[in-house]
Amino acid sequence: MNKLGLFGGTFNPIHNGHLRAAEEITRQARLEKILFIPSYIPPHKEQRCVAPAGHRLAMLRLALAGQKQFIPSAIEIEDRQTSYSIYTLRKIKKLYPEKEPFFIIGIDAFLEIRTWKDYERVLEESNFFVLSRPGFALQEVQKVLPGKWQAKTTWLNEGHFPSPRYSIFLVEINALPISASEIRERVRQGKSITGLVPKEIENYIYQHHLYQDA
Ligand code: ATP
Ligand code: MG
Repeated sequence: MNKLGLFGGTFNPIHNGHLRAAEEITRQARLEKILFIPSYIPPHKEQRCVAPAGHRLAMLRLALAGQKQFIPSAIEIEDRQTSYSIYTLRKIKKLYPEKEPFFIIGIDAFLEIRTWKDYERVLEESNFFVLSRPGFALQEVQKVLPGKWQAKTTWLNEGHFPSPRYSIFLVEINALPISASEIRERVRQGKSITGLVPKEIENYIYQHHLYQDA
């Protein structure tokens, strides 16, 4: 079955670290398509300092324009309510019944998975690529997963992919040390964000006066 990447996040804003991660997993797992799915009200984040969904989606569209394998999806934003991965997953499966869904997620975010609504159902009903990120070790997944899921975890580069035995694939990527929090903080302090986001995103942030006060 065709694999579909699901890359969720606040994307507040999208930055070069996200783009690098998407490029690396596309190459390493030979993915055809990735949906970038910005959350409406992020369940685990303070709402303060999250730019309106319309701006986050507009920036995503600008950053992905011209890369037809990367598709911005408004599926969570259109809901106008708290986004839970389990609901998003089920909707995606209805929309793309011929595709096999793979969540693409950084290790920092995956380490929080037990706080997700019905997280074991999400693990049962989908697959995961867990990507490295500076400051976190991929081995730490063992600490948060019950044994049943540890047995279904393997390294992508060990050649088990795709596999009916494994559903969680750890992926060492050449990740960039960039975070959206750092970008927001730099904008607030009047520091340059050149090189951290695509040029069009930098322009958009200034044009719309985003992130100027905390
Ligand atoms: P914030 O600092 O506001 O949390 P962020 O940079 O972590 O922002 P998110 O929107 O929270 O961005 O992240 C969405 C997804 O992208 C998460 O799974 C996260 O782990 C992953 N991700 C973000 N930045 C990177 C990066 N530099 N390298 C690898 N993965 C990343
Ligand atoms: Mg984050």
